[in-house]
Parts: sequence; structure tokens; C-alpha cells
Amino acid sequence: MKLVPSPTCSCGLEDQITDHILQKRPILESLRKTVWPTAFPFRCQLYGGKEDLEKTVSFVSLSGLRV
Ligand SMILES: [Zn+2]
Repeated sequence: MKLVPSPTCSCGLEDQITDHILQKRPILESLRKTVWPTAFPFRCQLYGGKEDLEKTVSFVSLSGLRV
């Protein structure tokens, strides 16, 4: 019945899961490089210290995605 919207991200590459948004979604690459200039582990984006988590919050906020 399609009561639930598709979990696939609008980029069509894979489901719009946390890992995809924070690490892989191509349209967010520029913003990702601004927030994390070098590769940054997914676990630190979710479970890191206060500064790590503030970056994650900033990234999600600036991405315009609604969570
Ligand atoms: Zn995507």
C-alpha cells in the first residue's frame, strides 16, 4: 500500500541512513569537507566527544535535512 515513503535517498545510491548522510551522500561532500576537512570516523561523528558531536549537529543543521 506504500504507506511508508521509500527509504531510498533522493540521490538514489542507497537508503538514507545515518552513515549515508554523514559519510557518503555526494551532494553533501562540500559541506562535509568544510565541517570535517579530513576523513573522520563515523563512530566519532555519533559517539565522540562534545566537540565532535557539535560538528555533527552543525553538519546536519547546515545540510537542510529534516530529522
Ligand atoms: Zn543519498
